[in-house]
Amino acid sequence: MNDASILTVRDLKKYFVIGHQDVLRRKPVTVKAVDGISFTVKEGETFGLVGESGSGKSTTAYTIVGMYRPTAGSISFRGEDLFTGNNERSRALKKEIQIVFQDPGSSLNPRRSVKQILELPLKIHRREENRTEHIARLMDIVELPLDHMHKYPQALGGGEKQAVAIARALATDPSFVILDEPTSALDVSVQAKIINILIGLQDEFNLSYLFITHDLSLMRNVASRVAIMYLGKICEVAETAEFFDNPYHPYTKMLLSSIPVVSEEEERIKPAKVKSTGEIPSPVNVPPGCSFHLRCPVRQAGCAEEDPVMIEVEEGHWVRCHLQC
Ligand code: SF4
Repeated sequence: MNDASILTVRDLKKYFVIGHQDVLRRKPVTVKAVDGISFTVKEGETFGLVGESGSGKSTTAYTIVGMYRPTAGSISFRGEDLFTGNNERSRALKKEIQIVFQDPGSSLNPRRSVKQILELPLKIHRREENRTEHIARLMDIVELPLDHMHKYPQALGGGEKQAVAIARALATDPSFVILDEPTSALDVSVQAKIINILIGLQDEFNLSYLFITHDLSLMRNVASRVAIMYLGKICEVAETAEFFDNPYHPYTKMLLSSIPVVSEEEERIKPAKVKSTGEIPSPVNVPPGCSFHLRCPVRQAGCAEEDPVMIEVEEGHWVRCHLQC
């Protein structure tokens, strides 16, 4: 890993209009799925984006790969903006960014064989080399037996399907891969195998990963830095060791206090149990001020009115909370 950033997200917003409050359609109902987030991913690193369901982490991923257009803000890759300027250049840059989805069962076409699935991106990107050889190489690097080439997804196990999805993402030699909960739909017995394949591929091809998950224990083992999202905003980001040893934000402490630990060292640094005082609010109706204030066990006067800003509490460790200001 080097310190140069490969992906820079600046004040990114993605809003969706999901209806109207009045029959004349003058008052739109808007979901602020992503509401002004900034982060960078360094070349060769695994940057972990963690959050509960509805926090906006998958919307962030889909916006980066171009499935959504940003409402505001910018995303640049290798210093070039992905959404402004030359379309051809933008397409070339986006080719370097691939995504692996959570559920391989629904992301693979059941009517195509493994060979046809892996051939499709090669055809789209007009890769003219011997495609069968290329497919065999892809299958080898994700540890799929070659005799699976003519099988259909329904004949494969969950881990094998996800290996096909990873091979498909690698078909066009990307340098940046978004992993959107790549193991959460898999049996525990095959999760470790897929994680080991991903780590091996990163070392071999110097890949940069944006790793999205709700699983903080997994992040501790795979990420070099971790950011935590809540209702469309990032509330804390730090290097992984610092994040787990020295959390600042009450929401981070709440989540860390409830994850299982496997060693005495992890037990020692685990925050005391923090009790949440409520349910995560609907993204359609985000509370004013700090969006966490309805659940925060240490909220202050003013938390319900004023939205905190990110401040750097230690080098590279940023927190959005009035208590740190
Ligand atoms: Fe809690 Fe206030 Fe900090 Fe929000 S700003 S996390 S409500 S203390």
